[in-house]
Amino acid sequence: MQCALHSLQTCDNQHNDLSRDHTSMADKQYDLVVIGTGPSGESAAVNAAKHGQAVAVVERLDQVGGNCTHRGTIPSKALRQAVKQMLAVQSSRVLHDLGTPDAPLSWLLERLHRVVGQQIDMRASFYARNGIDVLNGHAAFEDANTLSVTNAQGARQTVAFKQAVIATGSRPYEPPDVDFSHPRVFNSDTILEPGFTPRSMIIYGAGVIGSEYASIFSGIGVRVQLINSRERLLEFLDDEISDALSYHLRLTYGVLIRHNEEYERIAADDDGVTLYLKSGKKLRADALLWANGRTGNTDRMGLEALGLEPNGRGQLAVDDRYRTKIEHIHAVGDAIGIPSLASAAYGQGRSASADAIRVNGFRWVDDVPTGIYTIPEISSLGPTERELTEARRPYEVGQALFKETARAQITGDTVGMLKILFDPISHELLGIHCFGDQASEIVHIGQAIMSQQGAANTIDYFVNTTFNYPTMAEAYRTAALDGLNRIDGVFDVPAASAAPVAGIEQMAPDGATPHADPGDPEGPPDGHSLPTGTSG
Ligand SMILES: Cc1cc2nc3c(=O)[nH]c(=O)nc-3n(C[C@H](O)[C@H](O)[C@H](O)COP(=O)(O)OP(=O)(O)OC[C@H]3O[C@@H](n4cnc5c(N)ncnc54)[C@H](O)[C@@H]3O)c2cc1C
Repeated sequence: MQCALHSLQTCDNQHNDLSRDHTSMADKQYDLVVIGTGPSGESAAVNAAKHGQAVAVVERLDQVGGNCTHRGTIPSKALRQAVKQMLAVQSSRVLHDLGTPDAPLSWLLERLHRVVGQQIDMRASFYARNGIDVLNGHAAFEDANTLSVTNAQGARQTVAFKQAVIATGSRPYEPPDVDFSHPRVFNSDTILEPGFTPRSMIIYGAGVIGSEYASIFSGIGVRVQLINSRERLLEFLDDEISDALSYHLRLTYGVLIRHNEEYERIAADDDGVTLYLKSGKKLRADALLWANGRTGNTDRMGLEALGLEPNGRGQLAVDDRYRTKIEHIHAVGDAIGIPSLASAAYGQGRSASADAIRVNGFRWVDDVPTGIYTIPEISSLGPTERELTEARRPYEVGQALFKETARAQITGDTVGMLKILFDPISHELLGIHCFGDQASEIVHIGQAIMSQQGAANTIDYFVNTTFNYPTMAEAYRTAALDGLNRIDGVFDVPAASAAPVAGIEQMAPDGATPHADPGDPEGPPDGHSLPTGTSG
């Protein structure tokens, strides 16, 4: 591996006074040291290296990639994709008739390991290519400019730094009264090596991770009970989408969801696990997956001695530049709490290092869509109907059902819908809520419009733009037309927005765009008005 160890003089940025004593005593010296090689650490390190800084990352796992690559996002998504492939094969008459066998868990895990391996290789090459040193071991602060790095064999080295980024991520929260050493009790890390295929599973915790694993395990035929401490599934979602997810988990995959439940105790034995709920219920399954909360990896790092006190969830407070109370020590990713997503972590890491080395590129990461990889998947951005109503913000709804989209009919993924919420006067796009195959991709088309400033954020774009056909993107056109038809004649439109919407005009003569299905071109649901002049 190429060494990035330069003289500290290479850094123009002298805003942190690194004392000679520290540098001369330390084994190594860097402009920037990043602790953790997940998405936030990687992006912080690469950004600084690209700007000519001497950079090292410290990682206590044997390989780079962070929990994201080894235990979180990547393995769970690879597993889910393998389950989807398996379900597709099972539902395909042709392949089924060829005698394709049902996929055992080991087949799925093999696919998972292949993807994780590819990711590790690729990520390791980023460090090598950018001349970033990878120091293996557990990092702890000796003082505000020195870290100790202790590897698995106990060998210790000290590293002096001008700037540091804490990108140490998080781990599953483990309540002390649950025996996680039992081979039938898992968390989201250990479930990736279950050691056996359970026939039934209790998933305790119906947040994003619990719901995703409910899809994955029920998809391979495991009888899943999903225990939710809240009144409804993923309460932060649009109500219709939360209901749709509950419906599909129950009816398509046979997941039994129990709401408003809390555990009293968990007892595991040689044959299974019993979950005792405070409501008096007693549930039994072959295995239990605990998916209830995460803790920031900020312990055993000497932070308290520096005056940095993590909160009860192990998370560090940062200011609006991702700086901790110590200006030259930034913190990013899961270590600072919500949104606790890899998607956000990349941006946070890059921003923190831009701030640390005083270069352009800082942004506060707040435009984070929800991406939930249940089967079917969910994605959303912006307020829900409930939130807009509570805020007394007038809005209208436009929706497109996937089953009325040519692309979905072709692929067979007809479950789902795209719902857009918009201002009925200005047509400003306020919220995007999508459920169904590729939802996490589809949301980004709307996001691009929603992030436009002023009058450029308008759903008219979807009507005035030619989308490839057949695509799922076309659902935006259908949803926009559905919404615009709904407000037609209802609102006094100010002069600026009074111009006719081109798409509707084009539709008027014969009621169909060149490719739309005759008869019901835009597919508004029953009871909705069709575009002016549309046959239907
Ligand atoms: C099951 C699951 C599914 C998920 N799915 C998604 C998803 O679909 N989309 C999404 O955006 N997010 C998802 N997430 C969340 C995502 O994985 C995290 O938000 C992301 O990994 C956080 O990145 P990070 O850079 O903060 O740190 P991490 O990826 O957690 O990496 C931190 C690294 O720091 C190292 N480290 C910790 N302490 C030290 C120390 N003292 N010294 C040296 N090294 C240390 C750790 O070993 C680790 O490698 C999922 C999470 C889980 C658990």
